[in-house]
Amino acid sequence: MAQRIVIENCAIATVDADDTEYASGYVVVADDRIESLGAGKAPEDLQDVVRRIDASGHLVTPGLVNTHHHFYQWLTRGLATDHNLFNWLVALYPTWARIDEQMTYAAAQGSLAMLARGGVTTAMDHHYVFPKGSGDLSGAIIRAARETGVRFTLARGSMDRSEKDGGLPPDFAVETLEGALAATEATVDEHHDDSFGAMTQVAVAPCSPFSVSTELMKQGAELARRKGVRLHTHGSETVEEEQFCKELFGMGPTDYFESTGWLGEDVWMAHCVHMNDSDIAAFARTKTGVAHCPSSNARLAAGIARVPDMLAAGVPVGLGVDGTASNESGELHTELRNALLINRLGAHREAALNARQALRLGTYGGAQVLGRAGEIGSLEPGKLADLVLWNLDTLAHASIADPVTALVFGAAAPVTASFVGGRQIAENGRLLHVDEDTIARSTRSEARRLAQIAAQA
Ligand SMILES: [Zn+2]
Repeated sequence: MAQRIVIENCAIATVDADDTEYASGYVVVADDRIESLGAGKAPEDLQDVVRRIDASGHLVTPGLVNTHHHFYQWLTRGLATDHNLFNWLVALYPTWARIDEQMTYAAAQGSLAMLARGGVTTAMDHHYVFPKGSGDLSGAIIRAARETGVRFTLARGSMDRSEKDGGLPPDFAVETLEGALAATEATVDEHHDDSFGAMTQVAVAPCSPFSVSTELMKQGAELARRKGVRLHTHGSETVEEEQFCKELFGMGPTDYFESTGWLGEDVWMAHCVHMNDSDIAAFARTKTGVAHCPSSNARLAAGIARVPDMLAAGVPVGLGVDGTASNESGELHTELRNALLINRLGAHREAALNARQALRLGTYGGAQVLGRAGEIGSLEPGKLADLVLWNLDTLAHASIADPVTALVFGAAAPVTASFVGGRQIAENGRLLHVDEDTIARSTRSEARRLAQIAAQA
């Protein structure tokens, strides 16, 4: 017998293929799925209704999907604040290489809590720092995601190109090629769930061209395809990266990715800022996805990704917070606004992105790049009930003409309720299954412990 939740009297942005919206409508959730939705009142003859929510003054959207992050960086926020990417990395690697399981768990809790209380229902963590003897970091991250209640992809990262091989990370911060591949495969075997509605998935995710050997890129792609999981990495983030690729490989990043098996519909890449027309065409042809991280790109002065051109070419694009050492806010809902505003910078770009496109990037686009567009990312009967009730009936939004405009152009909207697979995880901006104040304290003490250990090294 299905248990039903009825949400009614709300504006709804479904983000389906036709961008269907209802000025006043209803959503019926049955167990973990959306059963029906539409304009006006919910059907009156529904059985087994366990809860009825009067959502007057609210906009209901699909839950937000974050497609790029590094949770461990929650402990190193506010450092190297005036650096570009390469200088920032060199400044922070020695500290990052001292993380342990307890720190990683606390950092994951902090990152997840910040995302989830702001309307994120599917999160990801690209974790690529695995110091020797640091414990079960992947297990700790996944445990934190389960406790928060969000749907989750762990992108099991790796680095094997250190300073002695012409890379950026210090020698002690990297794994061996064989070690990284074996540990990644073990993580897939232990944690990846490919069933409909899975709460935990794993992707193969070598860090970036300047910290990973060509062999690890190639064998990582082979491993992912043998296991049937997705591939993730950083790509074309900065001018310096482009120069690095040209000097070391004799080609730009996109050609390098193609030569190592890293373009394809099972791949998504963070940033993709420095792409020429033929790079964008290659992504479109292969359906390679992009995680657009506007705040991080601004913070590190990386540049502006050509998102409108990517969308016009048919490239799947989602949004990412990126690690919180390069985006201290750690919130995704504010990235809707930042994506829209940043893509309008420059002359005569007033229509570069509109509010509906920004909302799509943060929902359906994210689901696409995580390979889950059949399950989440839009509100449609049969899909998982991952959805958010945004309160637009307060001082911040009540006089803004249109609800989607209010959500994207306005201040960060308060979350009245957030559901993952029909299970509520947040209410009135507070999380229901973990305690924010406890997490705030433990992240502060773990950040201090990391700083002390790094200072002694
Ligand atoms: Zn990143």
